[in-house]
Amino acid sequence: MNGIKNQRQAVLDRTLSRSGLRMTRQRQTVYDTLMDQRDHPTADEVFSRVKRTMPTISLATVYNCLEKLVDCGLVRQVNRDRESTRYCANLKEHGHFYCRQCGSVHDIDLPSGQPADLGLALPEGFRVDQLDVNLRGVCPECGAKQQS
Ligand SMILES: [Zn+2]
Repeated sequence: MNGIKNQRQAVLDRTLSRSGLRMTRQRQTVYDTLMDQRDHPTADEVFSRVKRTMPTISLATVYNCLEKLVDCGLVRQVNRDRESTRYCANLKEHGHFYCRQCGSVHDIDLPSGQPADLGLALPEGFRVDQLDVNLRGVCPECGAKQQS
């Protein structure tokens, strides 16, 4: 358990210092919060979770921490039309599944390899450097509710 935490810490420190950023206690806490409960929370949700361990932190500070973590690539923003931005600390290549019923967001593993492997026929000369996969439907929990 501790091994995983230390490993995570090493990645975090390395990435931050590469971007010329210092690790602060606030950034650390915001990042840990995202890693501990990977349900793609909004900034408000991150704020209320962080407050449990850091009661004096402000929403503005949480926003600022999230922005910095996104800037240096440790955290991804997940946007869904007309909804507040959510945050994801899973750095593995993955897509997002949005449940239409309950609004939850789930990580979906993508096959590793080049985007062309996903069956995309890119016209000659185009090069992909970012792939966003968004799927919409009904999650297993909501699916089970519909059945009963
Ligand atoms: Zn995600």
